[in-house]
Amino acid sequence: MRCPFCGFDDTKVIDSRLVAEGSQVRRRRECLSCAERFTTFESAELLMPRVIKTNGSREPFDEEKLRNGFLRAVQKRPVSIEQIETVITQIKHQLQATGERELDSRVIGEMVMEALRQLDHVAYVRFASVYRSFQDLAEFRAEIDKLTQEPELGEQKPPSSAG
Ligand SMILES: [Zn+2]
Repeated sequence: MRCPFCGFDDTKVIDSRLVAEGSQVRRRRECLSCAERFTTFESAELLMPRVIKTNGSREPFDEEKLRNGFLRAVQKRPVSIEQIETVITQIKHQLQATGERELDSRVIGEMVMEALRQLDHVAYVRFASVYRSFQDLAEFRAEIDKLTQEPELGEQKPPSSAG
């Protein structure tokens, strides 16, 4: 890397050690030109993929927006903040695990719906009705019917979930 003192673009590493309980590497470097020494820290950065909106524009993943979506859906429902935080963490992991640099917003929407379906059926329907903007009442009713046919929460595992 470039020397911050003289701008020369080659330095040698004279010492390297793990810090922050192994999550960072601290490197002592020496400039090959001016011989000044400096330190760099290196850590793995798990980047969230960027979100491709339906109109094709891209925007950074917004955790706050995700949280607000959940909170709106579970308003006055017996769902705790802790449950919400747990599913947000799970969704973030899922997104990082895709290894994609960009993801369709639809993918995230489906993850949110799946999480809500497990948490609270009313919250799920609330979110789904806005998110999917059901074409007509029949489609909406079909979705509700599907829900009422399902066994109660916690009794079944999703059959083909990848996780
Ligand atoms: Zn230098």
